[in-house]
Amino acid sequence: MKDKCNKLWAMVVIAKAGGRCQLCGSAAMWSDVLDAHHLYPKGSRPHLRFDTDNGICLCRMNCHRKAHDHPKMFLELLKQFAPAKYEWYMANEDNCKGESHDYDAIWNELNDKLTMLRME
Ligand SMILES: [Zn+2]
Repeated sequence: MKDKCNKLWAMVVIAKAGGRCQLCGSAAMWSDVLDAHHLYPKGSRPHLRFDTDNGICLCRMNCHRKAHDHPKMFLELLKQFAPAKYEWYMANEDNCKGESHDYDAIWNELNDKLTMLRME
């Protein structure tokens, strides 16, 4: 169930972004793939792991690499190209409580979101 929730979370994040990298605007092509990146890492903020606000759709070869290799530069880019995400990120700096997961509830919630996005 955890893996299913992970996959569904990524699908919602990518669908919300309209299938484009939210930093450079690149669309998924054969040479590149879109990833759902956790703004706050799964390890340090487990309760935000399945929060779709904590996800950003990034192209794998360019922006996702930057996010991991150059976090400072990534934050600057986030501020510039995805200001709403940046604001959410800054607003949740102190949001670090631990929480256990109810995977069935998470899966249902994510599935509802994805269904809504597909109807738009
Ligand atoms: Zn990109």
